Amino acid sequence: MGLFGQDDPEAVEVAGRQLECRVCGHTEFWHRRAQLNTAVMSFFDFDWANATADCQVCARCGYVHWFLLP
Ligand SMILES: [Zn+2]
Repeated sequence: MGLFGQDDPEAVEVAGRQLECRVCGHTEFWHRRAQLNTAVMSFFDFDWANATADCQVCARCGYVHWFLLP
């Protein structure tokens, strides 16, 4: 039982390297996809709308690592 249901957290590789939580150093994450809406994009001052983000949520501390997908 995890933060988002019954998924088990998993190790994640990004750009050929194992992802480690930048806060606590943990190496298991829950994976979620998020569609970024216009309000969010405006908040970040991006001028391209409706991008998709990969979210890796640290299974220990809950820190969300965002990866914007092209
Ligand atoms: Zn963490």
